[in-house]
Amino acid sequence: MTPPDRPPRPATAVAPRVLMTRLRSLMAEGRSLDGRLAGVVSLVARSFVADVCSIYLRLENGDFELVATEGLKAEAVKNTRLARNEGLIGLVASEARPQNIQNAPHHPRFSYRPETGEDPYTSFLGVPILRFGRVIGVLAVQNIVSRVYDEEDMETLQTIAMVLAEVVTTESQSGSEELADVAVRPNRPIELIGQSLSEGLAMGPIHLHDPVVAPAQFFARDINDEEVRLKKALEQLRSFVDTMMVQNISPLAGESRDILETYRMLAHDPSWANRLFDAVSSGLSAEAAVDRARREHRARLQNAKDSYLRDRLHDLEDLDNRLLRMLSGNGEGIASQDHDGAILVARRLGPADLLEYRNAGLKALVLEDESTTSHAVIVARALGLPLIGGVGRIMAVVETGDEAIVDGDTGHIHIRPEPDLVAVYRDRLASRSQRLAEFAAIRDLPAVTQDGVKIELLMNAGLGIDVGNLDASGAEGIGLFRTEFQFLVSETLPSLTEQREFYQRVVDIAEDRPVLFRTLDLGGDKILRNTRHNREENPALGWRSLRFALDKPGLFRRQLRALCQATAGRTLCVMFPLVTTPEEFRKARELLNKEVAWCEKHGHSTPQKIHVGAMIETPAFALSFHELKGEIDFLSIGTNDLHQYFFAADRDSRFMSDRYSILNHTFLLFLKDIRKRADEMGIPVSICGEAAGNPAMAKVFALLGFRRLSMPATGVGPVKRAIRNLNLSELGVRFEAVLSENSSDIDKDLLNLLQDV
Ligand code: PEP
Ligand code: MG
Repeated sequence: MTPPDRPPRPATAVAPRVLMTRLRSLMAEGRSLDGRLAGVVSLVARSFVADVCSIYLRLENGDFELVATEGLKAEAVKNTRLARNEGLIGLVASEARPQNIQNAPHHPRFSYRPETGEDPYTSFLGVPILRFGRVIGVLAVQNIVSRVYDEEDMETLQTIAMVLAEVVTTESQSGSEELADVAVRPNRPIELIGQSLSEGLAMGPIHLHDPVVAPAQFFARDINDEEVRLKKALEQLRSFVDTMMVQNISPLAGESRDILETYRMLAHDPSWANRLFDAVSSGLSAEAAVDRARREHRARLQNAKDSYLRDRLHDLEDLDNRLLRMLSGNGEGIASQDHDGAILVARRLGPADLLEYRNAGLKALVLEDESTTSHAVIVARALGLPLIGGVGRIMAVVETGDEAIVDGDTGHIHIRPEPDLVAVYRDRLASRSQRLAEFAAIRDLPAVTQDGVKIELLMNAGLGIDVGNLDASGAEGIGLFRTEFQFLVSETLPSLTEQREFYQRVVDIAEDRPVLFRTLDLGGDKILRNTRHNREENPALGWRSLRFALDKPGLFRRQLRALCQATAGRTLCVMFPLVTTPEEFRKARELLNKEVAWCEKHGHSTPQKIHVGAMIETPAFALSFHELKGEIDFLSIGTNDLHQYFFAADRDSRFMSDRYSILNHTFLLFLKDIRKRADEMGIPVSICGEAAGNPAMAKVFALLGFRRLSMPATGVGPVKRAIRNLNLSELGVRFEAVLSENSSDIDKDLLNLLQDV
């Protein structure tokens, strides 16, 4: 598998395979750790024909200590320490990738340490010793003469670094004295701050998403066997990716197809496979070969800034992980194990990933990526999980099993907290449980204001499990059922039967309570599994939601048919998302009528009654829905999207999240105007965005005249309590006065007014 253009190795250098065999015997010799490290540096120096080989390990304070050397002065061992960014060792560590330098003393990062006697060495090759993508040390070789280390040298040195990472980790876990000061795993308390995306508080052990399968054995017992295993696993992986491709290209073609195709190309990339086979032929087990590639990709990913490159490195790392699972005979399963009470930490998580964890008993979520899709947020909220996003580099400072506190109210994460902080949070958790008990006590009481106005409180749902929360939430029904979640979680497009059965289960659970099914709202931030994004410049302004559904009548009609059949003999309430023009609503309704006619013609029973509504999510429709008088039965305002389009402020951007308040008085006047025009048409209008689940905002909506609110299940208790304490007529006059003021501080004034209550 060696490419023909590879330069010849120095005449005296030892072939990687021989080196691996020697390394393997050295590790099996039963020497002390210091003895083995000394053995490694001497073996590497000889094999590389290098004048120096040294190992540095990271200490608790971030410095690097020289722990073994061949060629530098012996007295420097355990004496020479370099600050975390100091010298070429610091450069390897901070970049987390190999550095191949031919004129080391002239390099701007060269740091002279007289005690090591280092100055005459000209060439330097250093590679990081990585554990879960974190640099725990550096392995370096140096030569007096100017020498060009080639690709193969670099790969061999990286493989040795991988073996060292394992040795050092195992020793440290067994409490080795020799590693007393070495920071193999992060263990200091750390506080990180991110963006609070779903409120709540949790304490528990961390579980890192995408569990890394550590290779069971490092060295190949029989190279031919390992090659056969690797070949088989690669074939299995490729056919998995090919099948996934075939199953998902329709109906999403074009851009989405390109993204899947890129993933497929990477899976079939001969250079990736060649590197793996090269590693195996040098004496590594198939798992260790893949693990080496994965470490490299992960380390590069942690430093990559460019989003396209990051995506590709994610793909590669994903393929490495999948291949490792295939080799261990567990190719499919990802997240289905039990993680009861764990805090899930991930770089990023699509809604589908999160749904895979739904039965895992998670307590909270922390994400590294800033570009948190709001549907991961909505899913987390539906599951009642605190979620903090935009916590850069958390993956580098935690490990599975570390204890953490996630404060979803403030966005703080305390990793490995001190006992006194744990005690403080224990108290907060206790008072929170007390509040939950208070909400439970009013669960079966109606949401009626002090002056007798009834506000109907419904919940938002979209997953089987959140429908199950209906009784516990105290909601009177489901005011927004996000049907796309079923699509987002499946590997393949749900069939007519799967959709029908799912909707049937939902209406069965709801019994006689209303369920407002919202038709497919795909695109934008809700991307089908394995398609990533549509790669439009502005997906939120692009081919999404009803626009997409109308352009895919086969897909859309199948859903409408499933809805008609699932609610046969009952009332079907269906609403269309992101309607922009009255004409779009008419077209969608026409398709629904066709499906009803089709069911009748083919002898299927149909719903007893059908209510057809639309979501107001675009300013254009907010200003034109009244043209549908007599054609539409109800309206529901999606404040998440309406707010985003009203202010031209991306709902997913953390820079925008606090910029324009829902309580902005122009926006409130807009909502009030919508409510008035709907009243004039004689049709009900509700609010179903996340804001309805915020007690202060829910009170404002009630003051604006809205009598039906739909919200995440966790919001129903707090909103019910707020509504039951509200006196609309008493507050109404002051509210109107504040609303008509032309002050820039209006939202603060409103909040003060509401806090008085
Ligand atoms: C909304 O936009 O407010 C809404 C309820 O729809 P979604 O959040 O699913 O886009
Ligand atoms: Mg919306």
